[in-house]
Formats: sequence, C-alpha cells, structure tokens
Amino acid sequence: MRNGAGAGNLARVAEPFDAGEKPPSRLHVFEHRPGDWWAECGICETWRTASNPTQRRAWNEIHAHFRSDHAARERLGVVCIAWSELDGAEGYYLGYWDGGSDLMVIEEMPNTPSIDVALEWARSRADRIQVRPSWDPAHSYSAGSTPRPGMPPLTARQ
Ligand SMILES: [Zn+2]
Repeated sequence: MRNGAGAGNLARVAEPFDAGEKPPSRLHVFEHRPGDWWAECGICETWRTASNPTQRRAWNEIHAHFRSDHAARERLGVVCIAWSELDGAEGYYLGYWDGGSDLMVIEEMPNTPSIDVALEWARSRADRIQVRPSWDPAHSYSAGSTPRPGMPPLTARQ
C-alpha cells in the first residue's frame, strides 16, 4: 500500500538524522535551465541524466541508478522503520531507506507485519537502522551494526 501517493512521492515517517549528523550526498540534482532538471552521480562520476521536467523526476532517475549500480556497496544513510496501526485494522511496519540529503529517500520498504522481515530488508541496505517497534511505537530503537545517537538497542519483545 502506498497511500495513493505512488513511488515518486515518498513521505518520511520520522526525521532520521540529528543536526550535524547528515552525511553529504554525492547524488546531485539541480535545475540546469527552467523546467530542465539534471542529475549527476558523484560516486561513479560518469552517470548523468538531463531533460527531466521536474525535480522529482530527476531524483527518481538518479535513485534508480544508485540502486542498480551502487547500493550494495555503499550502505549509506539510515533505514527508518515504524509500526503503523489504525483502529480496527491490522498493524504493519512501514519504512524507507534515507540517504541523507533533503530529498534522498532512496527506496520505500514493502509494508510487512513482521519485524524480522522488516529488519532483514533494512540490514541488507544500511548499517544504521532505527525502529519504532509494535510493542513501543512511541520510541525509536537502534537495530543496525552502527548505533544511532540517543537510541537504545532494539531488544526482543518482552
Ligand atoms: Zn553512479
């Protein structure tokens, strides 16, 4: 479920970075001329796209490039996972992989009711993972190999 927004309009469920912690992005998107958005990859320094009518389109293009060419090695950013539960409905985990700059939601996690499935998705992508678990959805816990500032490690449900 994507709340009708579609993959090009991902919403963050939480601010993943503290002040001063944001890594610089090596994926660059800019308006070359009015209505002509370009994107350049600073990781391989060979990839570029031009003639995108919107900024969002340019980000979609460079995210697709990043996922296919760099994601397995880079492990950058943070995966954020949160429990969502509405009255009378089954709960599930939603999440996304955030690469760092203001528009850098790299990939949206498929919704799942399983914390194990969610963590497997997260750990295959990044070393920094923060989770608001079903048994304590108001608080964030660290679940990756690199600790998150101010967050206790995620432990199994009591
Ligand atoms: Zn590249």
